[in-house]
Amino acid sequence: MPGMIALVPAAGSGSRFGAPSPKQYLQLNGQPLMRHTLATLAAVPAIERVVVVISPQDEWFDGFDWALPKLEVLRVGGASRAQSVANGLAELACGDDDWVLVHDAARCCLSVAAVERLIAALAGHPVGGLLALPVPDTVKRADAEGHVAATVPRKGLWLAQTPQMFRAGLLARALAAVAAEDITDEASAVERQGLRPLLVEGDAQNFKVTYPRDLALAKAILAARGER
Ligand code: C5P
Repeated sequence: MPGMIALVPAAGSGSRFGAPSPKQYLQLNGQPLMRHTLATLAAVPAIERVVVVISPQDEWFDGFDWALPKLEVLRVGGASRAQSVANGLAELACGDDDWVLVHDAARCCLSVAAVERLIAALAGHPVGGLLALPVPDTVKRADAEGHVAATVPRKGLWLAQTPQMFRAGLLARALAAVAAEDITDEASAVERQGLRPLLVEGDAQNFKVTYPRDLALAKAILAARGER
């Protein structure tokens, strides 16, 4: 049986967020934001290891009491998300056929049910896939002045989320073959190998905390679930 490992890149500085510490360490209902993320992944029975990739210069991680089962930390983060994931994969010591679920640290409202839906949908799948959401709104393309240049038909458009789940060997090869700055998720690298990852419906609560205004929504979602 191939193993199943969650890999959480958390080496970003959170520059869009603008807080003094990276957003993954902000307090959210009494815990660092990222602890909610890691706790959900650790609560999925099929996941054997939860590996977080932080920056070698990280000054925050050791200041918190994580106390989570399955948790391992690698201090090998790189200059981009893709580099952090590639560096983490290289250090994982896992088999080529093991499944790796890459998940953004800042998607702290992930649910166990969504992860289990992804894992179930990909059982026996040759490539892998990702949680994603069909685009619910009408989509506009802007011109340089911020006016509408076109309305883009939304049929067939999805918003990519994470986890993104691929075999470790395939993902490492795919990431090695692309320039990190050309991709913003793992699936893009796999697609460039000529492969077609499966889209598995996620949910809107699994959004990425990106701006300060997102914190109130994350707090409310976690509180409604009874997570403090
Ligand atoms: O910046 P963004 O929100 O897109 O980052 C997505 C995820 O990638 C975050 O969890 C962030 O910490 C991580 N990341 C990383 N290494 C970088 C940049 C981002 O691990 N150099």
